[in-house]
Amino acid sequence: MKDSVLVVNSGSSSVKYQLVDPVTGVAIASGLVERIGEPDGRITHHHDGVDRERMGPIGDHGDGLRLAFEMFAEDGTDLTTVGIAAVGHRVVHGGEVFYEPTVITPDVLAEIRRLSSLAPLHNPANVLGIESAMAVLPNVPHVAVFDTAFFHTLPAKARTYAIDAEVAKAHDVRRYGFHGTSHQYVSGRVAEFLGRDIGELNQIVLHLGNGASASAIAGGRAVDTSMGLTPLEGLVMGTRSGDIDPGLVMHLRRSAGLDVDAIDDLLNRRSGLKGLCGVNDFRELRRLIDDGDADAALAYDVYIHRLRKYIGAYLLSLGGVDVITFTAGVGENSAPVRADALAGLERLGIEIDADRNTARSREARVISTDASAVTVLVVPTNEELAIAQQALRAGAPTV
Ligand code: AMP
Repeated sequence: MKDSVLVVNSGSSSVKYQLVDPVTGVAIASGLVERIGEPDGRITHHHDGVDRERMGPIGDHGDGLRLAFEMFAEDGTDLTTVGIAAVGHRVVHGGEVFYEPTVITPDVLAEIRRLSSLAPLHNPANVLGIESAMAVLPNVPHVAVFDTAFFHTLPAKARTYAIDAEVAKAHDVRRYGFHGTSHQYVSGRVAEFLGRDIGELNQIVLHLGNGASASAIAGGRAVDTSMGLTPLEGLVMGTRSGDIDPGLVMHLRRSAGLDVDAIDDLLNRRSGLKGLCGVNDFRELRRLIDDGDADAALAYDVYIHRLRKYIGAYLLSLGGVDVITFTAGVGENSAPVRADALAGLERLGIEIDADRNTARSREARVISTDASAVTVLVVPTNEELAIAQQALRAGAPTV
């Protein structure tokens, strides 16, 4: 367990953690602390094929992590002495400042806190998680790995909104992109899997999970992505609207009298698939469609239509593509989504093999035909492993 990395992913009322072997990628143990600050808190801890659970109030993120450490101790693992090489923290927004994994100092933490104005739902939770983890593991390097970092290379034409330039500058308004750790990891795995130099490949990566984003990657550098200033822009998601006419916000303010928090809640938590048909999980969506539910069928059509628009846009902005890759919960598991996203594109050199697409596997695999000019892949993402490796490189460079 020596030289393992603890990966911490803090949400507003939850902390996900995983103890990872950064060489093999094996998750030694993992867990989820939920409903922090509520009377019915819960920790689920997974180790050696056994799930254990504890219920009860959890005051704050620090209490949650301390309870998680107790669960480790009950497994016979004292995290303070076991030889953890680094702690990797997923941080959602790195703004213009952070585009590399960064060892967390008091100044870095202050800057992450300052960036909360750009990610009010995420960065404050990340700060709480970092402070708590630093208190329980004070003698280990803590490294922030930013969701925005990979998109630092977006060219100006792709990162700029066409609004008043002075207003944009004064308020740090630009397209940042998110899910960067996943897009970077998957595009690297694609090159490895194909035995190709990443510098030679034009790629589209489709990260389709509960949150969803698409990216265009030329020679290993991100040149466009669907998420923008916040993770709300772009594809239709589980509960997020993705692209809307910005005039909708003013309309709801004036006509429905909704204030900014209510509109935020509407677009982030009550839109997307859930807003259209009441469910945000693709397995439930499929069941509803099979039962003849018209709202679910429309939600699916809207989702696929938006996805195809982005694929089309990136085909053109890249000027042709070598590989299209599906990843994350929906991308890895839903054969119908993959088939419908790329149906009827044979004239563009994209041809899915129906048997390969429906074959069940947890491994990286090709799902296009041998004749397809564009290779289509499914590659499982592993953000925890990517964060662990980056944290280790930044925090313990001699290891
Ligand atoms: P993620 O955010 O990457 O964890 O993805 C979560 C989403 O993946 C869930 O909300 C489901 O919609 C979807 N998902 C997971 N497993 C399956 C499956 N077997 N078939 C279809 N969708 C799935």
